[in-house]
Amino acid sequence: AAKKEGRRRARTFDPSMLVVLEQREVLRRSLRVALQHGEFFLEYQPLVDRSRTVTGFEALLRWRHPRLGVIPPIAFIPMAEADGLMSEIGQWVLEEACREALSWPDHYTVAVNLSPAEFLTAGFTDRVSQTLDLVGLPAERLELEITETVLLERTINNLDTLNTLNVLGIQISLDDFGTEYSSLSYLKNFPFDNIKIDRYFINDLLDDEKSQTIVRSVIALSHGLGMRVTAEGVETAEQAAWLLEEGCDRLQGHFLSPPLHADHIGQFVGHRKARRTNGGATRTVTG
Ligand code: C2E
Ligand code: MG
Ligand code: MG
Ligand code: MG
Repeated sequence: AAKKEGRRRARTFDPSMLVVLEQREVLRRSLRVALQHGEFFLEYQPLVDRSRTVTGFEALLRWRHPRLGVIPPIAFIPMAEADGLMSEIGQWVLEEACREALSWPDHYTVAVNLSPAEFLTAGFTDRVSQTLDLVGLPAERLELEITETVLLERTINNLDTLNTLNVLGIQISLDDFGTEYSSLSYLKNFPFDNIKIDRYFINDLLDDEKSQTIVRSVIALSHGLGMRVTAEGVETAEQAAWLLEEGCDRLQGHFLSPPLHADHIGQFVGHRKARRTNGGATRTVTG
């Protein structure tokens, strides 16, 4: 009844707004039980190295809502963060991704995105190493992706956390580089293994000289600091060729593959291996 009344009242000023708010409330309520109901799942997007060999996959979270269908992460992660649910969801993602990685045909790495809430949780590094032990995945096969937003607060603790992960042998990537605060002091002070250039700079790469200059500079800067560079959101073969020519270490994007359902990974890598063998490729995938 309250809902009906609300709708009637809203119509006099902004009905679309109320629909949006109602949907948000519906989402918010179902988000609280989504984990128990097993509604989350992961897709995995492959990454290739300079020889175009698949080296690993990035785990990307999706929510299969019983009525609304599959909801992308940007539509619910901020809400989960705000409601304090992201630490628990993140733990599920980590464990699920590590288990899945263990079932893959080769020793591919798996990359997991971290939200600030998770990273800042006390005992986060213990939780990560316990998860690796529990699942039986070597630390070297796990990559954790953080954004600069994660690092904004509590600098000393962040450095501790990253150093601990580093000592465990986990790879650390700075995600979405160039779109947030991009303070160069982060590159100086934190032990990243890898920088991921945001797709904002890859999108218009072949038409925009400024993007080219920025991407070239980020590659030089990262290499100078001993870090590898990944380009995300690579959509065309031309972009891929340009990036490899400029020395980019890894590529990820639709030119290679969209994120895949877990069941399709074996097929994807099998198919690539077969193609490389038939095409007289100089290397096969061995993981
Ligand atoms: P991200 O970590 O930067 O992930 C890359 C995003 O770019 C993914 O979107 C992927 O599907 C998309 N993408 C990949 N290749 C292409 C391409 O060639 N073209 C275009 N247009 N897009 C491409 P997705 O899956 O919607 O994820 C969005 C963001 O949500 C992620 O950005 C990440 O920040 C966050 N996210 C996803 N899964 C998780 C998670 O498990 N935990 C946390 N904390 N955040 C997550
Ligand atoms: Mg990422
Ligand atoms: Mg990214
Ligand atoms: Mg991005």
